[in-house]
Amino acid sequence: MSLGYAKRTAKREKRRELNAQQAPEIEVLKDRKLIRAEVTRRLVSGLQTTTLEYDSIFNYEKASLNKDFDLLSLLFQRMFFYKLNEQLSGLTCDHTFRLSNQILTQMQFRREKINEILDVFKKNGGDCDCGIIYKVESLLIGK
Ligand SMILES: [Zn+2]
Repeated sequence: MSLGYAKRTAKREKRRELNAQQAPEIEVLKDRKLIRAEVTRRLVSGLQTTTLEYDSIFNYEKASLNKDFDLLSLLFQRMFFYKLNEQLSGLTCDHTFRLSNQILTQMQFRREKINEILDVFKKNGGDCDCGIIYKVESLLIGK
């Protein structure tokens, strides 16, 4: 290992530490209209421009244990689970993937990709819209 490499690594470590220290202080959006706009932007284009309170419930350590981490964390970041929660609230789940299909379509995924995503949900215990919230989102959030 060269000295340069060690230095660079140390620098990178330092930066990571700083990021970790700063993370809890990140401003989160409070304005409902701006929150709505960010949710729609992430859903439709995948573009994240700001931090939402919802982001803080993501548990990286826990989520990264999952084999489908890449896909599930992408869906989380693009507000899929948030939107599904929102759409399910006040409804009785009809135990299909009706709402999930609608949301994934709004996210511009092709049919083939949507089927692949639904298979991943099923594999992780999510057999319908409410099952995705109870079984799949819970693999990514909280303690
Ligand atoms: Zn259900």
